[in-house]
Amino acid sequence: MMNAGPPDATKPMPSIGAVLREATAALAALPQASPHLEAALLLCEATGYTRTQLLAWPETELGEADLARFEVLIQRRLAGEPIAYIRGRQAFWTLELQVTPDTLIPRPETELLVELALERLHAEAPLLVLDAGSGSGAIAAALASERPTWTLIATDRSLGAARTAGSNLRTYALGNAGIVACDWLTPIAERSLHAIVGNPPYIPDTDPHLKRGDLPWEPRSALAAGPDGLDAIRTLSTQATSRLRPAGFIALEHGFDQGPAVRAIFKRHGFEDIRTHPDLEGRERATTGRLPVTSRR
Ligand code: GLN
Repeated sequence: MMNAGPPDATKPMPSIGAVLREATAALAALPQASPHLEAALLLCEATGYTRTQLLAWPETELGEADLARFEVLIQRRLAGEPIAYIRGRQAFWTLELQVTPDTLIPRPETELLVELALERLHAEAPLLVLDAGSGSGAIAAALASERPTWTLIATDRSLGAARTAGSNLRTYALGNAGIVACDWLTPIAERSLHAIVGNPPYIPDTDPHLKRGDLPWEPRSALAAGPDGLDAIRTLSTQATSRLRPAGFIALEHGFDQGPAVRAIFKRHGFEDIRTHPDLEGRERATTGRLPVTSRR
């Protein structure tokens, strides 16, 4: 049949199903992507449909504006931009957090730190707990939401990260958590904290992983920490010994091969009951310790 109208007027718009198939095939070229999931998330972002709606009505034709928006998002993803930055949010624990290029993208393995703190600290006591280098505020927000009697302090040196964390705490109305823009524990009073939890940078400066996947897009200061990746963990451990109360608890995330080094650092700083815990993939991912009940400091 002849195309009678203006060039595009009669051209059928592609369906949700067709667009998803095409985008999934394109995204499969990216290393470390989940093409199908990412195509669906970006289509939701462009159209306002939920994932259920995409599944239920694959034959629905897309509007031109929706399609144009989707194409822009797919191009950004194909250029390597992390899906979390394109969407501006990332799921963590029970929350959906705002993330920006000023913040590390919260990882599922970091939920281990939340579990360890929930397991090992008194659930109903009025504890003062600090999330060191909190980025988007993920750990502080998760703990504040689970433990109304605790007070959470989130620290981050980056003002952009502090603003994002503050916004996440407000979104979930977490009145028992606050954010301080500072370097690790520097302004924190001596012997004031019951616990310190943190996901500091721990990748060695020259590690090739820094050039892969989402990492080149994330703040380098949230990822890399000196020649062996342990600079931030050493600084934090030193500061922790004076800021924690007697019997104070520490839990830090680290690289899968840094367990022995982190245990040695904790030991050198006088921590006891030092244990390393595996993540969901069975790799050493977090080490915990406690200061002695009576300290000789
Ligand atoms: N686990 C992250 C990664 O390897 C790094 C996070 C961090 O350095 N704290 O991608």
